[in-house]
Amino acid sequence: MSTSVENVVIIGTGCAGLTAAIYAARANLNPLVLEGPLPGGQLTTTSEVENFPGFPHGVDGFQLTQNMREQAQRFGTRFEQALVTSVDFTSMPRKLVLDGRTILTKTVIIATGASPRLTGVPGEKELYGGKGVTTCATCDGAFYRKMEVAVIGGGDSAAEEALFLTRFASKVYLVHRRNELRASKIMADRATTHEKIQMVWDSVPVSVEGVEQGAVSGLKIKNVKTGAESVLPVKGIFVAIGHIPNSKPFSPPLEVDENGYFKAAPGSQVRTNVPGVYVAGDCSDHVYRQAITAAGMGCQAAIEAERWLAEHGG
Ligand code: NAP
Repeated sequence: MSTSVENVVIIGTGCAGLTAAIYAARANLNPLVLEGPLPGGQLTTTSEVENFPGFPHGVDGFQLTQNMREQAQRFGTRFEQALVTSVDFTSMPRKLVLDGRTILTKTVIIATGASPRLTGVPGEKELYGGKGVTTCATCDGAFYRKMEVAVIGGGDSAAEEALFLTRFASKVYLVHRRNELRASKIMADRATTHEKIQMVWDSVPVSVEGVEQGAVSGLKIKNVKTGAESVLPVKGIFVAIGHIPNSKPFSPPLEVDENGYFKAAPGSQVRTNVPGVYVAGDCSDHVYRQAITAAGMGCQAAIEAERWLAEHGG
């Protein structure tokens, strides 16, 4: 076990984690950032970001996170590839357990993001990633030019994915388990009235067809009201049924809500039930989920950590 004690360890390299790193580094806290399985976070799977302030002509998602990383490095941030498997926050310094070693730190900023949720039906896992099942229309939509595709879900993400896919696909089936969308009215109206989008109401996926051929050849669905099963003749399946926050290794001791999102302490967006431990970004925010709001939370968390260290002897 290392005996040196870090001032602040930031877990995650999405917008939240990298913004926290920029602020912590500029406050001379010499932050250590632990980088998980998806460096740069969800933004790296987006091609064009048009709503991040400061880029009037848009910016590539990967480039934006790369810029943030360089900015953090410029002020002395250290990066390590590591997956935190458990924590011990019962004593000071706090302990982070990684594969085969422990890091000691006075403060922690958890910015681990959220991962796309999958349906779990047979064939989905086998054909995920490059074989026809995906969770990102922006990343993969262009592969389905003039083909029929299906989007599963009924929220804003599903509506947005379906609308985006109309640029490429010949037809988009929007498969939803109820008979009305959860998406905001404007998105729902756009999706349900689009000539290329066919709504498939009251239907759940049963299986993804094409495992033997190694590529999606259809989506078997079941109407939950009639029990009737049918196969949509699609080559691409876009799963958009929400996200799972990456909070497991930290909970307990940190409090989470019924969906696993970290709960912030009253009166704060980023403080937790453990002093000196903060959360930022999509692992705790299921409402806004924007790059700019994640960055804002990362900034808040770093300022909180800096103040905590000043008060408790950094
Ligand atoms: P969401 O709002 O939680 O919607 C998830 C959808 O998936 C729901 O329609 C749900 O059905 C369905 N679903 C969940 N589990 C399922 C399962 N196992 N099988 C089949 N269907 C399932 O998630 P989201 O669309 O990712 O949006 C998350 C948040 O981000 C929302 O606050 C949203 O407004 C926001 N967002 C905003 C924008 C935008 O404004 N442009 C874009 C994307 C996301 P039920 O409806 O029956 O529960």
